[in-house]
Amino acid sequence: MTTAVCFQCGHLKFGSFVPCDQCQARPRTDDEMIISLAMTDHYFDQATLESMRDYILEHGHAPDLDPESKKTFRKTFEEVKATGAIEKMLNSFEDNSE
Ligand SMILES: [Zn+2]
Repeated sequence: MTTAVCFQCGHLKFGSFVPCDQCQARPRTDDEMIISLAMTDHYFDQATLESMRDYILEHGHAPDLDPESKKTFRKTFEEVKATGAIEKMLNSFEDNSE
């Protein structure tokens, strides 16, 4: 399982796009998904994830990625999105809709 930081409350959860078990937030916009994709143990070690959590707790929002990293993560996100995996994953959380 992927350790990921909740983009909204900083809670360490499992899986970038799963609803947070603490605040129930899950990323919906591209930007929220990109930061959620970035703040995982795929890209950062546990200590860095914890400092991101501390940042969110202190500031109430996720740290800004530097433009270069953001470009890289956006590209990764677009690639994942193109496979349809994200849509499939999100649909699995939408049991009650349509
Ligand atoms: Zn949360």
